[in-house]
This record gives sequence, C-alpha cells and structure tokens, in this order.
Amino acid sequence: MHHARARALKTRLDALLATRDPAEARAADPVQYVHRFADPGDREVVGFLASALAFGNVVAVRASIERVLAVLGPAPARAVEAGEAALARSLEGFVHRVYRGPHLARALARVGAMRRAHGGVGLRLAQLTGEHGFREGLARVADALRGPAPHARGLRHLVPDPRAGSACKRLLLYCRWMTRPADGVDLGLWPLAPAELVMPVDTHVHRIAQNLGLTERNDASWRTAEEITAALRRLDADDPVKYDFALCHLGVSRACPSRRDPEKCRSCVLRPVCRQWKRS
Ligand code: SF4
Repeated sequence: MHHARARALKTRLDALLATRDPAEARAADPVQYVHRFADPGDREVVGFLASALAFGNVVAVRASIERVLAVLGPAPARAVEAGEAALARSLEGFVHRVYRGPHLARALARVGAMRRAHGGVGLRLAQLTGEHGFREGLARVADALRGPAPHARGLRHLVPDPRAGSACKRLLLYCRWMTRPADGVDLGLWPLAPAELVMPVDTHVHRIAQNLGLTERNDASWRTAEEITAALRRLDADDPVKYDFALCHLGVSRACPSRRDPEKCRSCVLRPVCRQWKRS
C-alpha cells in the first residue's frame, strides 16, 4: 500500500471510529455480557463464553448466553471451578447450533483449570505468545481448553485450532475484547501488547477489507486475517485491531454491498478510498 493511500485510508477509518458511541457499540455486541461483571476473573470467563457462543442468529445467541449465565450465577469465575461433570449436569439439554452442554462444560471447566494453574487465560496466552508467537500461543491455549482428544465436532467448532487455517473469528474477538485498551467496549485486562492481535475476520469484514484494498485474498482464512492486520498496522502499528469496529460497522449493518450500489454507497464515509466504488 502506498504511503498516500495509507494516509487517506487512515483519515477515513479514523473518521468512522470517531462516530462510535461506546454504549451503542456495547449494546449491539455480545461484549455487553462481559460488562455486566466488575471482577476481572468473571470478565475473563464471561468473555470466553460470550465470544464462543457468538455464532448464528442474534436472538438465539442472546438466549444461549443468558441461559449459561443463569447457570453460572453471580460469580462465574468461581462457578467454573465446579468441574466438568457438575457443569455438564447444570447444562443438561443445552443446545446452540452444533454446540451441546458437554462441549461447553468441558471448555468452561478448563478455563477454570487454566485460571487456577496459570493465574488466568490472558496470563497464559501472554506467556505462550512470548515463547512461541501469538498464533502458536493461542493454538496452545485452545488445545488446553479442548482437553484430551478425541474431540466432538461441536467442541472443535467451539474452540477452533488457529493452526488449522480458519480465521478463528470468535477466538480472536475474545482476545480483542480482553486485550485492547479499555475504551468502553474493549477491556484492556490481558497483559498482551495489542500490536500482537490479529483481526477477527468474518465474511462481512473480509468483503469490506477487499473493497478497501487491505487484502487481495479470496478466502476468510487466518492468512487473510493476518494480511488485513498487516495492512492496518500501516495505519496504527501499536493497535491495528482498533479498526475492527470501523470495518464491522458497515458489514454488520449490511450497509456495504458486495457490488457498487449508488444508493447505499452515497453516504459512505469510505467511498473516496473504496476500490469497489471506483471500479465501475
Ligand atoms: S463505498 Fe460502498 S462498497 Fe465501498 S465501502 Fe462504502 S458502502 Fe462499501
């Protein structure tokens, strides 16, 4: 990306970020459940839960998170210490897409075990990132949360493997929430440099990133997420993932079409830097 183009893009994306109202952003995002709790340990546990279940229809996602929060009660960090069998009993009959109670019980119990053994998921991730780099560090955390193989398909989907090539959107969203500086949405709790983070990419973010020339790749994969992050590092080397909001904003509201659309694009703040707009 040329310097002038990076500067133009930064101006536009910063303008979009400046329009963000934290209360509105929280209300539209499962991170709202994390903000219900004040204790950092509870936030770490609820952040895992809320990001892991953020898959599928918004109403169903909310209902599923509420159901599990009701089981965990007012002190989730203590509740996950109950162990896998007890959690599985409390979550009997739980179904969310391909996830079942036992998958969630396993992962939550192992979040509790990691917190006991290492002082926190974030502490463990920071330590492993220091030793092996972020991707492998996160992969080792995910291995530990899945526990001993064989793994049911639902558990593999609930806690994906960053080595396998998929974009691991929900896992990276969890890292973003917990690591980026506290700004009314993200929490700044994990001892990891925000510069280490990789963008949480789904099909919406991928499309907008393509429109803005942040990636040429055609798949929403880990490599694409890294490529988008590298491009955003040109705009802010210390905190590239802060632009997640700006990119998500257009995608989730479905304001950004997959093809140039004069109606939808007219009021778009990114139009001057959008390749899709310039294409036709
Ligand atoms: S100009 Fe249109 S296609 Fe380009 S980013 Fe904006 S809404 Fe999306």
